[in-house]
Amino acid sequence: MARAGVVRWLLIGLCLYSAVSSLAPPCAQAAGGCPRGSKPRSIQVGKGQVLGAIARAHETSIGQIVARNPGLNPDALREGQKLKLCEGSARPAALRSCGGGRKVFQHEVRRGESLARIAKRYAVQEKALMKRNDGLLGGDPSALRAGQRLKVCTHAARAHAAKACDYRTPLHQHEIVPGEWLAEIASRYGVSQKELLRLNPRTRKNPDYLRPGRTLRVCPDIPPRTRERIDHRVARGQSLASIAARYDLHPRQLLRFQQGRLNDPDRLRVGQRLVVWKDGGVVEGFGDSDEAGSLPHGLQLPEGAHYRIKNRNTAWGTPRTLRLVQSATERYRRADRRAPTVLIGDLSRRGGGPFPPHKSHQTGQDVDVGYALHGDDGSARRFPRTTTKNLDVARTWKLIEAFLATGAVRYIFMDYRIQEQLYEHARSRGVARSRLDELFQYPRGKRRAYGIIRDDPGHDRHFHVRFQ
Ligand SMILES: [Zn+2]
Repeated sequence: MARAGVVRWLLIGLCLYSAVSSLAPPCAQAAGGCPRGSKPRSIQVGKGQVLGAIARAHETSIGQIVARNPGLNPDALREGQKLKLCEGSARPAALRSCGGGRKVFQHEVRRGESLARIAKRYAVQEKALMKRNDGLLGGDPSALRAGQRLKVCTHAARAHAAKACDYRTPLHQHEIVPGEWLAEIASRYGVSQKELLRLNPRTRKNPDYLRPGRTLRVCPDIPPRTRERIDHRVARGQSLASIAARYDLHPRQLLRFQQGRLNDPDRLRVGQRLVVWKDGGVVEGFGDSDEAGSLPHGLQLPEGAHYRIKNRNTAWGTPRTLRLVQSATERYRRADRRAPTVLIGDLSRRGGGPFPPHKSHQTGQDVDVGYALHGDDGSARRFPRTTTKNLDVARTWKLIEAFLATGAVRYIFMDYRIQEQLYEHARSRGVARSRLDELFQYPRGKRRAYGIIRDDPGHDRHFHVRFQ
């Protein structure tokens, strides 16, 4: 008890200190007893877990956890022990806005960190970083010292990005709801099951780990949404399908939420209660995705035996992207020697940067690819409109598979109607439902952010691949 008391006073001291010196994280604005920008959570200690790992996983600090759990002995954690914590309290806090939806964050320089590495971590230019911190560095990068606090102007999503996610996005803790399975959770965030297993190795050993209420670590490519459990009272004339549609759910999903308590899903009683897990807004700190960027060390895609390039002037990419395009098209054509070469559209402009009318295509990691088409359209040098007549569904599926086989696809934009045709084709060829669930947004509706393959207007003439 005495020890916890001392720790608490120590923390209050720290809070006062950080309030005075404007260091992150601010302690004054308590929400539910947690610092602003973090949220209170209750977790269970896993087997062999230590406090440091728990703090890291939930982006908080050991001190913060000790303060939330009076009497806690950090050296004697038990499996199954409940802990209260403030998730995200160790994330950097924004000081003020600096234009373009970005904010100024403070970064504490760690031992051995270079300016280039910090610039990369926040996706900013080294030059801009130097300029903003001129008072500290005086224009000399070698003046950088561990413990210094640099000001960085960047997007919130980038500032909160986690190391476990390669600084692509913040880490998200997905809370499992009844009836969810791994492929479905993966598709909810546009990631692969493999990626989920990598971040949650315990799940691999023990699939029972997917118990409702447990959490999974995710590096989401689709921004996570808040979720709340509500009771829906069945009104006159409502069916399972109409209720599901109302909450943007698939009827199968709604049925699973009932955990077998629904005797006859075809005959709902008026006034009957159904459990609904309803999606809300984007979780704070996510969804502020940063498509802006440049391509300082790009290369031009050379002519190749397996593809034809629509316009070489706009076919600049990172060396890795070019390699991936080459290996995917080669894999596709080796498996099907009679397939026409693949039409490659825009990547990025030389040097990258804004490329209207594209929203992305700024950093050399995006490529527009033509669908496989029958007849003369199959060897066109432009992107013809696809119809049920000219679309070669079997070959397009093979082409998509070849891109996925690179293991480096982050997402694919594809018209929803074409998704349907590919989905049905792949299913008829025996591709597992769990695999299709992970890949396609179809059949959950194009408004739902789901799957690695997603609908986006204008992607009926070509599909768009974004590499990791
Ligand atoms: Zn595109």
